[in-house]
Amino acid sequence: MTQVYGLPQDSRRAGGIAVITLPKTILNVRYQGRPLLIETGVNSVNHVIFGIPLSASVGTLQLQSSNGPIDIEVKPYKYAEQRLTVKNDDYVNPKQEQLDRYAIEAKEQNDIYASFTASQWEKFPQFIRPTAGKFSNSFGRKRFFNGEERAPHSGLDIPAPVGQKVIAPAAGTVVATGNYFFNGNTVMIDHGQGLISMFCHLSKINVQKGEMLTQGQLLGLVGKTGRVTGPHLHWGMSLNNARIDPQLFLSP
Ligand code: ZN
Repeated sequence: MTQVYGLPQDSRRAGGIAVITLPKTILNVRYQGRPLLIETGVNSVNHVIFGIPLSASVGTLQLQSSNGPIDIEVKPYKYAEQRLTVKNDDYVNPKQEQLDRYAIEAKEQNDIYASFTASQWEKFPQFIRPTAGKFSNSFGRKRFFNGEERAPHSGLDIPAPVGQKVIAPAAGTVVATGNYFFNGNTVMIDHGQGLISMFCHLSKINVQKGEMLTQGQLLGLVGKTGRVTGPHLHWGMSLNNARIDPQLFLSP
């Protein structure tokens, strides 16, 4: 498959992305002391691609740089609410041993989200859809499971039949595979510079930790493992440890 390049969409809201063009003379761009993803431009500018946390408030958010602070204006955005019924109450009110298991899994995942490795690409890769199917704007939804409020939805759901192929939306290294309490069978890919993708509820995993994947390579099959109400792919994207809307990586 020929790799296509293209920056993600700029959408300055909680859970969105800011694509910032800066002169190359401005160095060391950081958020809360952490490095950010930079596409080094061919001309005199670089592109800083910053994931705006879903928890960010409306207003001004500040990045740091060698040239002083850079202001990012976070605009209001209303995410929908969603009320779901799951039959197995363990997924709403987990037992102590399940909470203990989840704490270990959450730490493993958070360590991956907080990691920052060199990227294999020079120009930012245009992502492709990881599986076929329609998706609604399910990212960011405020969720109530069996009437109880839980964390907002940090990914995009693509309803699809069990067994449908799931492919890598861009090249990267598999950094985790496993069966997790809420996420079911999961694959996580590191695309470099703090950009991580995640694929959950799979019926089958076709890759191993450490494997390098090319764009379009089969990574698993759609399933309904973990906390689900039906078969679908949960596709998550994280950048600079912020969970952001995966749709912004696709061409509009
Ligand atoms: Zn989901």
